[in-house]
Amino acid sequence: MAQRKENIVMFPFMAQGHIIPFLELALQLEKTNKYTITLVNTPLNLKKLKSSLPQNSSIHLLEIPFNSVAHDLPPCTENTDSIPYHLFPKFLQATVSLEPHFKKLISELVNEQNGQKPLCIITDMFLGWCKETAHEYGIFHAIFIGGGGFGFACFYSLWVNLPHRKTDADEFLLPDFPEASTLHVTQISPYLRATDGSDSFSVFYKKLLLLWKDADGILVNTVEELDKIGLMYFKRKFGRPVWPIGPVLLSTENRGGVGKEYGISAELCRKWLDTKPYSSVLYVSFGSQNTIAASQMVQLAMALEASGKNFIWVVRPPTGFDINYEFKANEWLPRGFEERIKGLGQGLVVHKWAPQVEILSHTSISAFLSHCGWNSVHEALSHGVPIIGWPLTGDQFYNSKLLEEEIGVCVEVARGMNCEVLKEDLSAKIELVMNETEKGVDMRNKANDVKVIIKNAVRNEKNFKGSSVKAMDQFLNAALIMREMEKGASKNEV
Ligand code: UDP
Repeated sequence: MAQRKENIVMFPFMAQGHIIPFLELALQLEKTNKYTITLVNTPLNLKKLKSSLPQNSSIHLLEIPFNSVAHDLPPCTENTDSIPYHLFPKFLQATVSLEPHFKKLISELVNEQNGQKPLCIITDMFLGWCKETAHEYGIFHAIFIGGGGFGFACFYSLWVNLPHRKTDADEFLLPDFPEASTLHVTQISPYLRATDGSDSFSVFYKKLLLLWKDADGILVNTVEELDKIGLMYFKRKFGRPVWPIGPVLLSTENRGGVGKEYGISAELCRKWLDTKPYSSVLYVSFGSQNTIAASQMVQLAMALEASGKNFIWVVRPPTGFDINYEFKANEWLPRGFEERIKGLGQGLVVHKWAPQVEILSHTSISAFLSHCGWNSVHEALSHGVPIIGWPLTGDQFYNSKLLEEEIGVCVEVARGMNCEVLKEDLSAKIELVMNETEKGVDMRNKANDVKVIIKNAVRNEKNFKGSSVKAMDQFLNAALIMREMEKGASKNEV
C-alpha cells in the first residue's frame, strides 16, 4: 500500500516579497515527492497564486478570510501591494485577526485526516503568533525569514535594543551583536530612528519580532558560507536550530503570478543586450516597491549619460508618488534624456516591470546598481554580477554592509531616499566598478567565486549535497523527530 504523504502547511505574510519565496519553497518541497503542501492565504492572494502554479502542481490552496474594512482599511485590501506605504502598520496589525481562522483551519485539517497532524507548519516572520496553534496541536513550527541572516540580525537587534537612542554619537555598536561592527545612524530607516519604542506600532512590532524565539527553528533564505555571522546571532539569541536553505529564488517560468505589467519583454531585452559587448552593461533597479527622490533621479540620469556606459534602468515615479503612477519622463528626467540615450543606443529605460533575472543572466551585464533587496542580491550573485549598492530602507542597509565589508562584492554609492547625491560621485563609483580598475577586477573575481559557492550550496547529487540541501534535510528531520516524540508521548499517556 502506498504510504500517505506527510502534509506541510505554509503561511506567508500577504505581500508579494513574502509570498514569492514561500511559493518557491513550496515548489521545492513538492518536487521531493514526499510531501503534500498546503499553502494558506486570503482569497485574492490565492487567486493570484493559482495562476503561477505549474499546471501539474498538486499544492493545495486553503483560504482564510480577511475583512479589511473591519480594520479601517480600504475594501478588498489583502496585500501590501494595494495600499500606500503609510497604511502598512495598520495592515500588519490587522493580520493578527487571522489567528482564530488559522486555528480553525488547522483543526479542520487534522479532523479531515482522521487525527493525522501536519508534519510541520512554516509561517512567515510576521506571523509568529501561529506558534500558539502549532503547539496546541503538537505540530512542529518553523519561521521562514525570506531575507538574509546578517541583514535581519542587525534589523532585529536594532528593534529590540534601540541602541541608537541610547547614545548621542552617530556611530554605535549593537549590544548583543558586536560582530556586526559599527553601524551609522544613516543606516536606520526614519521610523526606527525616531521611535523611543513606546508608540503603539513599535510596541506591537517588537512583540512580533520577539515571537521568533518561540519557534522550534528558523529557516533563513541564505547560504551558510556567505552569512555565518548573522546565522550565529540567531543561534546564540534563540538557542534553537537555524537552517540556511537559500537561495530560494523563484524561477523565471513561475514569475507569472507576480502579477506585474512588463515594460519590456524578455525577448526584446535579450536582443538589445546581444548587441552589446561582454560585461559592458550596467543594470539599475530599486526593486519592486522602492524608489528614489526626483532630485536623485536627475543626478543618476546625468551620471549614466556622462559615464558613457551602456545601461538598462528600471524607472519608477519618484518618492511622493504612488509607485503605479504613470512615469512622466519630461518632469522627472533631464530634458530629452530618454530620446538621446535611445538614439545613441546607450541605454534602455524600462517603465513598470523589467525581466530582471533574464537581464542579470546575460553575459553583457557587468554590474548591478541595486537597492540591495535580498532577492536582487541573490539574483545578481548567482550570476556573478557585482553590486553598486544604494540601500533605501529596512534590512537593505545591512545587506549592503555585509556585501561590501565581509564579502567584497559591493561598493556603496549612496544611502537612503533623502540623501544628497552628486552625478560626479555616482559616475566615479560606476567607473570604479565597471572599468578594469584593481577594485573592479577584484569585485568581479569575488562575485564569480560567490556564484560558485551559491551553485554548490544548492547542489543535490548522489555523492554530494550542498550546505543548503543539507540544512533542508536537517529541518525536515527535526520535524519528523518531534512527530515521533509526540507519538511516543501520546502512547505513554494511554
Ligand atoms: N523585480 C523584477 N522586475 C522589476 C523589479 C523587481 O523582476 O522591474 C523582481 C526582482 O527580480 C526580485 C524582486 O522583484 O525578485 C524584488 O525583490 P527584492 O528582495 O530585491 O526587493 P524588494 O522589491 O522586496 O524591495
